[in-house]
Amino acid sequence: MQAPHPPNLQDALDDILSRQAARGRVYSTGHAYAGAALVSAHRPSLAIVGAGLGGLTVAATLRQAGFDVRVYEQATRFSRIGAGIQMMPNSMKVLRRIGVEARVRGNSFQPYSHLNRAWDTGEVLRELPMPEDLFGAPYLCMHRADLHEALASVLPAEIIELRKRLVGLDDTGGQVTLTFDDGSSARADAVIGADGVHSIVRDLIIGPDEPLHKGRIAYRAIFPSALMGGRDVGPSRTKWWGVDRHIVIYYTKPDRGEIYLITSVPEPAEWLTRESWSTTGDVQELRNAYEGFHPDVRAVLDACPSCHKWAILERDPLPCWSVGRVVLLGDSCHPMTPYMAQGAATAMEDAAVLTRCLDEVDGDDVRTAFARYEAHRKPRATRIQAISSANTWMKGGNEDTSWLYGYDAWTVPLDAESNTVATGPFANPPRPAG
Ligand code: FAD
Repeated sequence: MQAPHPPNLQDALDDILSRQAARGRVYSTGHAYAGAALVSAHRPSLAIVGAGLGGLTVAATLRQAGFDVRVYEQATRFSRIGAGIQMMPNSMKVLRRIGVEARVRGNSFQPYSHLNRAWDTGEVLRELPMPEDLFGAPYLCMHRADLHEALASVLPAEIIELRKRLVGLDDTGGQVTLTFDDGSSARADAVIGADGVHSIVRDLIIGPDEPLHKGRIAYRAIFPSALMGGRDVGPSRTKWWGVDRHIVIYYTKPDRGEIYLITSVPEPAEWLTRESWSTTGDVQELRNAYEGFHPDVRAVLDACPSCHKWAILERDPLPCWSVGRVVLLGDSCHPMTPYMAQGAATAMEDAAVLTRCLDEVDGDDVRTAFARYEAHRKPRATRIQAISSANTWMKGGNEDTSWLYGYDAWTVPLDAESNTVATGPFANPPRPAG
């Protein structure tokens, strides 16, 4: 038997519940004192597959709204993938609301501008200074692992289960059963597939993935600035545009102690592999690929001690993002080339919008929430995917950037209709070929 709530808190709880009942909703924000136990009985429980940048973000946004959430991740531990990442104002607004902005700022470099230069002369093709007041949030560059750690820091460790590689889903009887490769299983009222570019959830609900090979790879490297012998790469994030290749260079630490580079170069068709964070590259091949580039680029490549490479594969937009009680988020539903630095940002936007949609439906009506989420998110994600694929963003000209960086996933109206969401449970979903 639990002790009764003190009268003032019990009154507050009764008041909240009666006001919500009057509005036809069980619970609205989850922020009030009501006690998760009492409230969560009326709200769907959510299983998130994947504890990457999108999965951890949606776990945080949903928990903040009072949902009961569990995260299942295949990895045995979180390792520090050697890569930088840019967070634009649109994603910083999501991070701000879940309370990690200060921590992220403390570990990041804040560039003065997006700077786009010609590969050989260094001519400025376009520069967009990014003061915080331009789009209402900072533009930050950081180590990817620092961002991941910041997201994990706002989640209780016990809601994240490691060593859980999803192998099956069964959406019957008003709940979804998840099965894992260790033979265990779990149940939830709905599932969010945040399992990245090689998503098994996507394969299970929509069908096998067919990546498009356009014969390009990304080299990437992160290393101490001390290796530059005192040479500075400047206050901006600089993209150097060549004829058929580019390289992006920026600092990832507030004290400029670490440099990151990421490229896109043509690669013979023989080297086709899955996108992989662990495949190593040959640093001499990387240097050769940028022969003749501006001395500022050569200096960074000469100092670079080692590198990794990633096959850049592309995918067409999916026909739909959810089936029954299962929905996709982030790279699982809109993977994109890294050329606009928007993959994680759009996953974070998805997290905020999906949370709003789930928060605004009656009780367990997840299909309505998923339809509304997809109707709002898909046009934007598809547009970003297309521009990213064309690799034209800010190459020159003066096109508007406010639609991208000025977007606030917490306040944008969610008013589009959807006719693209498949319904119905899938007890025997298609299996990937091979
Ligand atoms: P991920 O972060 O990939 O997470 C997926 C998770 O699911 C992983 O932890 C994985 O282990 C887990 N998982 C997979 N399968 C299973 C399974 N069967 N069972 C359980 N768990 C599973 N984006 C930006 O916004 N800014 C940038 O500057 C930027 N730079 C980039 C540079 C490069 C080189 C690349 C490749 C991408 C870049 N991106 C950037 C894109 C960004 O990294 C991705 O869009 C983002 O990580 C997607 O997040 P996600 O959660 O969807 O997937």
